[in-house]
Amino acid sequence: VNHVVVVGAGLAGVRTVEALRGRGFTGRITLIGEERHRPYDRPPLSKAVLKGEADTSYVDTDLDALGVEFWAGVAAKSLRPGVVETTEGEVPYDGLVISTGADPIRLPGDGPQHVLRTIDDAHELRAVLVPGARVAIIGAGWIGAEVATAARRAGCEVTVIESASTPLSTAVGTEIGGRTLPWYDGLDLRLGVMVDSVDEGGVRLVGGEFVDAHVVVTGIGVRPAVEWLADADIDLHNGVVTDEHLRASLPGVVAVGDCAAWWSRRWRTRLRVEHWDTALNAPEVAAATLLGEEAVYDPVPYFWSEQFGHMLQYAGHHPAGDRLIYRGEPEDKWSAVWLTADDTLAAVLAVDRPRDLVQGRRIIDAGSRLDAERLVDPQVPLRDC
Ligand code: FAD
Repeated sequence: VNHVVVVGAGLAGVRTVEALRGRGFTGRITLIGEERHRPYDRPPLSKAVLKGEADTSYVDTDLDALGVEFWAGVAAKSLRPGVVETTEGEVPYDGLVISTGADPIRLPGDGPQHVLRTIDDAHELRAVLVPGARVAIIGAGWIGAEVATAARRAGCEVTVIESASTPLSTAVGTEIGGRTLPWYDGLDLRLGVMVDSVDEGGVRLVGGEFVDAHVVVTGIGVRPAVEWLADADIDLHNGVVTDEHLRASLPGVVAVGDCAAWWSRRWRTRLRVEHWDTALNAPEVAAATLLGEEAVYDPVPYFWSEQFGHMLQYAGHHPAGDRLIYRGEPEDKWSAVWLTADDTLAAVLAVDRPRDLVQGRRIIDAGSRLDAERLVDPQVPLRDC
Protein backbone atom coordinates (compact mmCIF):
# COMPACT_ATOMS: atom_id res chain seq x y z
CA VAL A 1 0.00 0.00 0.00
CA ASN A 2 1.44 3.37 -1.04
CA HIS A 3 -1.39 5.83 -0.69
CA VAL A 4 -4.14 5.55 1.91
CA VAL A 5 -7.18 7.77 1.57
CA VAL A 6 -9.31 8.28 4.68
CA VAL A 7 -12.81 9.60 3.99
CA GLY A 8 -14.34 11.22 7.08
CA ALA A 9 -12.22 13.30 9.47
CA GLY A 10 -13.97 12.54 12.74
CA LEU A 11 -12.48 10.58 15.62
CA ALA A 12 -12.46 7.25 13.78
CA GLY A 13 -10.73 8.80 10.75
CA VAL A 14 -8.00 10.58 12.66
CA ARG A 15 -7.41 7.62 14.97
CA THR A 16 -6.93 5.40 11.92
CA VAL A 17 -4.32 7.84 10.60
CA GLU A 18 -2.53 7.67 13.97
CA ALA A 19 -2.74 3.88 14.00
CA LEU A 20 -1.32 3.62 10.47
CA ARG A 21 1.69 5.74 11.44
CA GLY A 22 1.97 3.91 14.76
CA ARG A 23 2.31 0.67 12.81
CA GLY A 24 5.12 2.10 10.73
CA PHE A 25 3.26 3.02 7.55
CA THR A 26 5.40 5.65 5.81
CA GLY A 27 3.38 6.07 2.60
CA ARG A 28 1.11 8.94 1.67
CA ILE A 29 -2.08 9.58 3.66
CA THR A 30 -4.87 11.88 2.51
CA LEU A 31 -7.59 12.72 5.06
CA ILE A 32 -10.78 14.05 3.49
CA GLY A 33 -13.39 15.74 5.68
CA GLU A 34 -16.61 17.48 4.75
CA GLU A 35 -16.49 19.78 7.76
CA ARG A 36 -14.21 22.81 7.76
CA HIS A 37 -12.86 21.92 11.20
CA ARG A 38 -9.96 19.77 12.20
CA PRO A 39 -11.04 16.56 13.95
CA TYR A 40 -12.93 17.02 17.21
CA ASP A 41 -14.75 14.91 19.79
CA ARG A 42 -18.54 14.96 19.74
CA PRO A 43 -19.50 13.87 23.29
CA PRO A 44 -18.68 17.32 24.76
CA LEU A 45 -21.02 18.99 22.23
CA SER A 46 -24.15 18.03 24.19
CA LYS A 47 -22.39 18.52 27.54
CA ALA A 48 -19.61 21.07 28.19
CA VAL A 49 -20.04 22.97 24.90
CA LEU A 50 -23.82 23.25 25.17
CA LYS A 51 -23.53 24.35 28.80
CA GLY A 52 -21.00 27.02 27.85
CA GLU A 53 -18.14 25.42 29.79
CA ALA A 54 -16.07 24.85 26.63
CA ASP A 55 -16.07 26.24 23.10
CA THR A 56 -14.15 23.51 21.30
CA SER A 57 -13.27 19.84 21.73
CA TYR A 58 -10.45 19.24 19.25
CA VAL A 59 -8.83 15.83 19.26
CA ASP A 60 -5.33 16.14 20.69
CA THR A 61 -3.38 15.21 17.57
CA ASP A 62 -0.81 16.83 15.28
CA LEU A 63 -1.75 16.28 11.64
CA ASP A 64 1.45 17.94 10.40
CA ALA A 65 3.63 15.70 12.54
CA LEU A 66 1.65 12.72 11.24
CA GLY A 67 2.50 13.78 7.72
CA VAL A 68 -1.08 13.73 6.49
CA GLU A 69 -2.58 15.83 3.71
CA PHE A 70 -5.77 17.15 5.27
CA TRP A 71 -8.50 18.26 2.88
CA ALA A 72 -11.01 20.16 5.01
CA GLY A 73 -14.36 21.16 3.55
CA VAL A 74 -14.17 18.47 0.85
CA ALA A 75 -16.83 15.75 0.47
CA ALA A 76 -16.51 12.35 -1.15
CA LYS A 77 -19.29 11.97 -3.72
CA SER A 78 -18.82 8.45 -5.06
CA LEU A 79 -16.50 5.48 -5.15
CA ARG A 80 -15.27 3.13 -7.83
CA PRO A 81 -12.50 0.58 -7.35
CA GLY A 82 -9.26 2.51 -6.73
CA VAL A 83 -10.75 6.00 -7.04
CA VAL A 84 -12.72 8.30 -4.74
CA GLU A 85 -14.58 11.07 -6.51
CA THR A 86 -14.72 14.22 -4.37
CA THR A 87 -16.08 17.75 -4.69
CA GLU A 88 -12.47 18.69 -5.58
CA GLY A 89 -11.93 15.99 -8.19
CA GLU A 90 -10.79 12.37 -8.29
CA VAL A 91 -8.40 10.86 -5.75
CA PRO A 92 -6.80 7.49 -6.53
CA TYR A 93 -6.03 5.20 -3.57
CA ASP A 94 -4.34 1.89 -2.82
CA GLY A 95 -6.02 1.59 0.55
CA LEU A 96 -9.28 3.26 1.56
CA VAL A 97 -10.71 3.94 5.03
CA ILE A 98 -14.41 4.75 5.19
CA SER A 99 -15.09 6.70 8.40
CA THR A 100 -17.95 8.99 7.42
CA GLY A 101 -19.87 8.59 10.68
CA ALA A 102 -23.60 9.23 10.80
CA ASP A 103 -26.12 11.95 9.96
CA PRO A 104 -28.99 13.05 12.17
CA ILE A 105 -32.51 12.24 11.00
CA ARG A 106 -34.78 15.26 10.50
CA LEU A 107 -38.54 15.51 10.67
CA PRO A 108 -40.81 16.82 7.93
CA GLY A 109 -42.04 20.41 8.03
CA ASP A 110 -41.04 23.93 7.01
CA GLY A 111 -40.24 25.23 10.47
CA PRO A 112 -36.67 25.64 11.67
CA GLN A 113 -35.34 22.59 13.50
CA HIS A 114 -32.01 22.19 15.22
CA VAL A 115 -30.09 18.94 15.22
CA LEU A 116 -26.95 18.27 17.24
CA ARG A 117 -24.17 16.52 15.39
CA THR A 118 -21.48 19.08 14.60
CA ILE A 119 -19.68 21.76 16.57
CA ASP A 120 -21.45 24.35 14.42
CA ASP A 121 -24.80 22.78 15.43
CA ALA A 122 -23.76 23.02 19.08
CA HIS A 123 -22.86 26.71 18.85
CA GLU A 124 -26.08 27.55 17.02
CA LEU A 125 -28.15 25.73 19.60
CA ARG A 126 -26.28 27.17 22.57
CA ALA A 127 -26.96 30.69 21.33
CA VAL A 128 -30.74 30.17 21.50
CA LEU A 129 -30.90 28.32 24.83
CA VAL A 130 -31.61 31.51 26.79
CA PRO A 131 -33.67 32.03 29.96
CA GLY A 132 -37.40 31.87 29.26
CA ALA A 133 -37.03 30.40 25.75
CA ARG A 134 -39.65 27.74 25.04
CA VAL A 135 -37.72 24.75 23.81
CA ALA A 136 -39.35 21.66 22.33
CA ILE A 137 -37.07 18.64 22.18
CA ILE A 138 -38.26 15.78 20.00
CA GLY A 139 -36.93 12.44 21.19
CA ALA A 140 -36.04 11.38 24.73
CA GLY A 141 -33.01 9.30 23.78
CA TRP A 142 -29.40 10.05 24.71
CA ILE A 143 -29.20 13.31 22.78
CA GLY A 144 -32.69 14.49 23.80
CA ALA A 145 -32.00 13.84 27.49
CA GLU A 146 -28.65 15.64 27.39
CA VAL A 147 -30.09 18.62 25.52
CA ALA A 148 -33.00 18.77 27.99
CA THR A 149 -30.44 18.84 30.82
CA ALA A 150 -28.58 21.78 29.26
CA ALA A 151 -31.78 23.65 28.30
CA ARG A 152 -33.19 23.36 31.79
CA ARG A 153 -29.92 24.56 33.27
CA ALA A 154 -30.01 27.54 30.92
CA GLY A 155 -33.41 28.52 32.32
CA CYS A 156 -35.51 27.48 29.32
CA GLU A 157 -39.07 26.19 29.48
CA VAL A 158 -38.58 22.68 28.20
CA THR A 159 -41.04 20.29 26.55
CA VAL A 160 -39.81 16.82 25.62
CA ILE A 161 -41.87 14.90 23.07
CA GLU A 162 -41.31 11.15 22.85
CA SER A 163 -43.23 8.59 20.81
CA ALA A 164 -42.46 5.65 23.13
CA SER A 165 -43.97 5.17 26.58
CA THR A 166 -40.74 6.09 28.41
CA PRO A 167 -37.43 7.88 27.75
CA LEU A 168 -34.45 5.84 26.50
CA SER A 169 -36.72 3.00 25.40
CA THR A 170 -34.96 2.23 22.11
CA ALA A 171 -31.59 1.93 23.78
CA VAL A 172 -32.36 0.20 27.06
CA GLY A 173 -36.07 -0.68 27.02
CA THR A 174 -39.13 0.84 28.62
CA GLU A 175 -38.64 -0.84 32.00
CA ILE A 176 -35.33 0.89 32.59
CA GLY A 177 -36.53 4.02 30.82
CA GLY A 178 -39.30 4.17 33.41
CA ARG A 179 -36.71 4.47 36.15
CA THR A 180 -35.52 7.76 34.64
CA LEU A 181 -39.01 9.35 34.64
CA PRO A 182 -38.55 11.25 37.95
CA TRP A 183 -35.56 13.02 36.40
CA TYR A 184 -37.99 14.90 34.15
CA ASP A 185 -39.84 16.49 37.09
CA GLY A 186 -40.48 20.13 36.31
CA LEU A 187 -40.23 19.55 32.56
CA ASP A 188 -43.20 19.04 30.29
CA LEU A 189 -42.64 15.43 29.20
CA ARG A 190 -45.11 14.13 26.59
CA LEU A 191 -44.93 10.37 26.18
CA GLY A 192 -46.53 8.19 23.53
CA VAL A 193 -46.87 11.22 21.30
CA MET A 194 -45.97 11.32 17.61
CA VAL A 195 -44.84 14.44 15.81
CA ASP A 196 -46.46 15.22 12.49
CA SER A 197 -44.25 18.12 11.42
CA VAL A 198 -42.06 20.95 12.60
CA ASP A 199 -43.79 24.17 11.63
CA GLU A 200 -43.12 27.86 12.02
CA GLY A 201 -43.51 28.58 15.76
CA GLY A 202 -43.57 25.04 17.03
CA VAL A 203 -44.40 21.39 16.59
CA ARG A 204 -47.56 19.88 15.09
CA LEU A 205 -48.48 16.58 16.76
CA VAL A 206 -50.32 13.73 15.10
CA GLY A 207 -53.95 14.41 16.00
CA GLY A 208 -53.56 18.12 15.39
CA GLU A 209 -52.37 19.58 18.70
CA PHE A 210 -49.73 22.31 18.36
CA VAL A 211 -46.87 22.74 20.83
CA ASP A 212 -45.60 26.34 20.76
CA ALA A 213 -41.84 26.64 20.77
CA HIS A 214 -39.19 29.26 20.01
CA VAL A 215 -36.63 26.52 19.54
CA VAL A 216 -37.19 22.99 18.19
CA VAL A 217 -34.48 20.36 18.59
CA THR A 218 -34.84 17.05 16.78
CA GLY A 219 -32.98 14.19 18.47
CA ILE A 220 -34.58 11.08 17.00
CA GLY A 221 -31.47 9.23 15.92
CA VAL A 222 -28.96 9.05 13.11
CA ARG A 223 -28.35 7.12 9.93
CA PRO A 224 -24.94 5.89 8.79
CA ALA A 225 -23.52 8.47 6.35
CA VAL A 226 -23.13 6.14 3.38
CA GLU A 227 -25.33 7.78 0.76
CA TRP A 228 -22.23 8.68 -1.21
CA LEU A 229 -21.63 4.93 -1.63
CA ALA A 230 -25.07 4.19 -3.06
CA ASP A 231 -23.77 3.44 -6.56
CA ALA A 232 -20.51 1.81 -5.47
CA ASP A 233 -19.88 -1.90 -5.75
CA ILE A 234 -19.74 -2.36 -1.97
CA ASP A 235 -22.08 -4.16 0.43
CA LEU A 236 -24.24 -1.78 2.42
CA HIS A 237 -26.76 -2.85 5.01
CA ASN A 238 -27.30 -0.54 7.97
CA GLY A 239 -23.91 1.00 7.14
CA VAL A 240 -20.85 -0.45 5.45
CA VAL A 241 -20.88 -4.21 5.94
CA THR A 242 -17.54 -5.53 7.19
CA ASP A 243 -16.10 -8.77 8.48
CA GLU A 244 -14.51 -9.13 11.92
CA HIS A 245 -11.33 -7.50 10.57
CA LEU A 246 -13.35 -4.40 9.55
CA ARG A 247 -12.73 -5.28 5.90
CA ALA A 248 -15.46 -4.14 3.51
CA SER A 249 -16.58 -6.20 0.52
CA LEU A 250 -14.53 -4.11 -1.93
CA PRO A 251 -10.82 -5.11 -1.89
CA GLY A 252 -8.47 -2.65 -0.16
CA VAL A 253 -11.28 -0.97 1.77
CA VAL A 254 -11.96 -0.91 5.52
CA ALA A 255 -14.77 0.84 7.41
CA VAL A 256 -14.71 2.05 10.98
CA GLY A 257 -16.73 4.05 13.52
CA ASP A 258 -20.43 4.98 13.36
CA CYS A 259 -20.72 4.02 9.68
CA ALA A 260 -19.41 0.44 10.03
CA ALA A 261 -21.51 -2.66 10.69
CA TRP A 262 -18.96 -5.29 11.65
CA TRP A 263 -19.26 -9.00 12.34
CA SER A 264 -18.87 -9.65 16.05
CA ARG A 265 -17.35 -13.01 16.95
CA ARG A 266 -18.36 -12.58 20.56
CA TRP A 267 -22.04 -11.88 19.94
CA ARG A 268 -22.31 -13.83 16.66
CA THR A 269 -24.17 -11.03 14.98
CA ARG A 270 -23.46 -7.88 13.05
CA LEU A 271 -23.08 -4.81 15.27
CA ARG A 272 -23.06 -1.13 14.43
CA VAL A 273 -22.30 0.88 17.53
CA GLU A 274 -22.74 4.66 17.39
CA HIS A 275 -20.50 5.43 20.32
CA TRP A 276 -17.22 7.10 21.06
CA ASP A 277 -15.34 4.06 22.38
CA THR A 278 -15.76 2.28 19.04
CA ALA A 279 -14.42 5.28 17.11
CA LEU A 280 -11.50 5.38 19.53
CA ASN A 281 -10.48 1.72 19.51
CA ALA A 282 -11.63 0.08 16.27
CA PRO A 283 -9.13 2.11 14.18
CA GLU A 284 -6.20 -0.01 15.48
CA VAL A 285 -7.83 -3.03 13.85
CA ALA A 286 -8.80 -1.14 10.68
CA ALA A 287 -5.21 0.07 10.24
CA ALA A 288 -3.76 -3.38 10.86
CA THR A 289 -6.13 -4.95 8.34
CA LEU A 290 -5.30 -2.36 5.72
CA LEU A 291 -1.58 -3.10 6.18
CA GLY A 292 -2.16 -6.83 5.76
CA GLU A 293 -1.73 -7.72 9.43
CA GLU A 294 -4.02 -10.13 11.28
CA ALA A 295 -6.35 -8.32 13.71
CA VAL A 296 -9.89 -8.85 14.93
CA TYR A 297 -12.26 -6.26 16.37
CA ASP A 298 -14.28 -7.97 19.08
CA PRO A 299 -14.92 -5.54 21.93
CA VAL A 300 -17.41 -5.41 24.74
CA PRO A 301 -19.14 -2.25 23.44
CA TYR A 302 -19.18 0.65 25.89
CA PHE A 303 -20.78 4.08 26.13
CA TRP A 304 -21.81 6.66 28.64
CA SER A 305 -24.27 9.54 28.95
CA GLU A 306 -24.48 12.42 31.41
CA GLN A 307 -28.00 13.59 32.06
CA PHE A 308 -29.96 15.32 34.84
CA GLY A 309 -26.95 15.11 37.16
CA HIS A 310 -26.51 11.36 36.62
CA MET A 311 -23.74 9.38 34.98
CA LEU A 312 -25.05 6.45 32.94
CA GLN A 313 -22.58 3.87 31.67
CA TYR A 314 -23.39 0.81 29.61
CA ALA A 315 -21.21 -2.10 28.57
CA GLY A 316 -22.12 -5.21 26.62
CA HIS A 317 -24.89 -6.13 24.24
CA HIS A 318 -28.25 -7.52 25.31
CA PRO A 319 -30.52 -9.24 22.84
CA ALA A 320 -34.21 -9.19 23.72
CA GLY A 321 -35.11 -11.98 26.10
CA ASP A 322 -32.16 -11.68 28.46
CA ARG A 323 -33.12 -11.55 32.15
CA LEU A 324 -33.00 -8.11 33.74
CA ILE A 325 -31.94 -7.74 37.37
CA TYR A 326 -31.63 -4.50 39.37
CA ARG A 327 -29.03 -3.62 41.96
CA GLY A 328 -30.28 -0.76 44.10
CA GLU A 329 -33.45 1.34 44.23
CA PRO A 330 -34.41 3.84 41.53
CA GLU A 331 -34.19 6.86 43.86
CA ASP A 332 -30.63 5.90 44.80
CA LYS A 333 -27.56 4.86 42.80
CA TRP A 334 -28.46 1.72 40.87
CA SER A 335 -27.45 -0.66 38.13
CA ALA A 336 -29.27 -3.00 35.80
CA VAL A 337 -27.69 -6.19 34.59
CA TRP A 338 -28.80 -8.52 31.83
CA LEU A 339 -28.18 -12.24 32.24
CA THR A 340 -28.42 -14.85 29.52
CA ALA A 341 -30.28 -18.13 30.06
CA ASP A 342 -27.12 -19.73 31.52
CA ASP A 343 -26.43 -16.78 33.91
CA THR A 344 -23.64 -15.28 31.83
CA LEU A 345 -23.47 -11.51 32.10
CA ALA A 346 -24.57 -9.98 28.77
CA ALA A 347 -24.70 -6.30 29.65
CA VAL A 348 -24.65 -3.83 32.50
CA LEU A 349 -26.09 -0.33 32.81
CA ALA A 350 -24.65 1.53 35.78
CA VAL A 351 -26.28 4.72 37.04
CA ASP A 352 -23.84 6.59 39.27
CA ARG A 353 -22.15 3.26 40.08
CA PRO A 354 -18.92 3.34 38.05
CA ARG A 355 -17.49 0.28 39.86
CA ASP A 356 -20.31 -1.90 38.55
CA LEU A 357 -19.45 -0.73 35.06
CA VAL A 358 -15.73 -1.43 35.33
CA GLN A 359 -16.20 -4.81 36.96
CA GLY A 360 -19.13 -5.74 34.73
CA ARG A 361 -17.18 -4.98 31.58
CA ARG A 362 -14.38 -7.32 32.71
CA ILE A 363 -16.84 -10.06 33.63
CA ILE A 364 -18.54 -9.81 30.22
CA ASP A 365 -15.17 -9.93 28.52
CA ALA A 366 -14.23 -13.07 30.47
CA GLY A 367 -17.64 -14.66 29.79
CA SER A 368 -18.09 -15.64 33.46
CA ARG A 369 -21.35 -16.66 35.09
CA LEU A 370 -22.92 -14.82 38.00
CA ASP A 371 -25.07 -15.81 40.96
CA ALA A 372 -28.40 -14.08 40.44
CA GLU A 373 -29.24 -14.26 44.17
CA ARG A 374 -26.13 -12.34 45.18
CA LEU A 375 -26.49 -9.88 42.35
CA VAL A 376 -29.59 -8.21 43.74
CA ASP A 377 -27.65 -6.99 46.79
CA PRO A 378 -26.01 -3.74 45.67
CA GLN A 379 -23.55 -3.99 48.60
CA VAL A 380 -21.94 -7.11 47.10
CA PRO A 381 -19.37 -6.04 44.49
CA LEU A 382 -20.21 -7.42 41.06
CA ARG A 383 -16.92 -9.27 40.85
CA ASP A 384 -17.91 -11.25 43.98
CA CYS A 385 -21.29 -12.29 42.57
P1 FAD B 1 -18.17 11.19 13.10
O1 FAD B 1 -17.70 11.73 14.39
O2 FAD B 1 -19.57 11.44 12.68
O3 FAD B 1 -17.19 11.71 11.96
C1 FAD B 1 -17.44 11.49 10.60
C2 FAD B 1 -16.96 12.67 9.79
O4 FAD B 1 -17.06 12.33 8.41
C3 FAD B 1 -17.79 13.92 9.97
O5 FAD B 1 -16.96 15.00 10.26
C4 FAD B 1 -18.50 14.11 8.63
O6 FAD B 1 -18.68 15.46 8.27
C5 FAD B 1 -17.53 13.45 7.69
N1 FAD B 1 -18.18 12.99 6.45
C6 FAD B 1 -19.39 12.41 6.31
N2 FAD B 1 -19.64 12.12 5.02
C7 FAD B 1 -18.57 12.54 4.33
C8 FAD B 1 -18.22 12.52 2.96
N3 FAD B 1 -19.04 11.99 2.02
N4 FAD B 1 -17.04 13.06 2.58
C9 FAD B 1 -16.18 13.58 3.50
N5 FAD B 1 -16.46 13.62 4.82
C10 FAD B 1 -17.63 13.11 5.23
N6 FAD B 1 -20.80 8.57 22.45
C11 FAD B 1 -20.57 8.10 23.71
O7 FAD B 1 -20.11 6.98 23.86
N7 FAD B 1 -20.87 8.86 24.81
C12 FAD B 1 -21.38 10.10 24.71
O8 FAD B 1 -21.63 10.75 25.73
C13 FAD B 1 -21.63 10.63 23.40
N8 FAD B 1 -22.15 11.86 23.25
C14 FAD B 1 -22.39 12.35 22.00
C15 FAD B 1 -22.94 13.60 21.87
C16 FAD B 1 -23.23 14.13 20.61
C17 FAD B 1 -23.82 15.49 20.48
C18 FAD B 1 -22.96 13.35 19.45
C19 FAD B 1 -23.29 13.88 18.09
C20 FAD B 1 -22.41 12.09 19.58
C21 FAD B 1 -22.12 11.57 20.85
N9 FAD B 1 -21.56 10.31 21.02
C22 FAD B 1 -21.32 9.82 22.28
C23 FAD B 1 -21.26 9.45 19.85
C24 FAD B 1 -19.84 9.64 19.32
O9 FAD B 1 -19.52 10.98 19.28
C25 FAD B 1 -19.74 9.01 17.94
O10 FAD B 1 -19.90 7.64 18.08
C26 FAD B 1 -18.43 9.32 17.25
O11 FAD B 1 -18.34 10.68 16.96
C27 FAD B 1 -18.28 8.52 15.96
O12 FAD B 1 -17.09 8.89 15.33
P2 FAD B 1 -16.89 8.69 13.77
O13 FAD B 1 -15.52 9.21 13.49
O14 FAD B 1 -17.25 7.31 13.39
O15 FAD B 1 -17.98 9.60 13.07
